[in-house]
Amino acid sequence: MATPYLCPACRTNRTKFAVIEQVPQYVKLDPDTGNTVELLDAASIDPLHIPYKGSLRRVQCGVCGLLDDEQTFAATARNHPRGR
Ligand SMILES: [Zn+2]
Repeated sequence: MATPYLCPACRTNRTKFAVIEQVPQYVKLDPDTGNTVELLDAASIDPLHIPYKGSLRRVQCGVCGLLDDEQTFAATARNHPRGR
């Protein structure tokens, strides 16, 4: 479902954005080398491995360049509806 955005910094931009999809990769690393020992999908991580809880999308304003979580842009749009 689409969500309106408004940049919380310049407060003028509702149309021009760069949207960055954040896709978590679950890995087990060799503690000495940092090499990936195992790549896991979200369903197969062990119970003590905390799943990713961050934003699914980052958004950068195409006018002022502010980069923040999608929720920040969406909340600003909700709190400042367009005048009609
Ligand atoms: Zn902006």
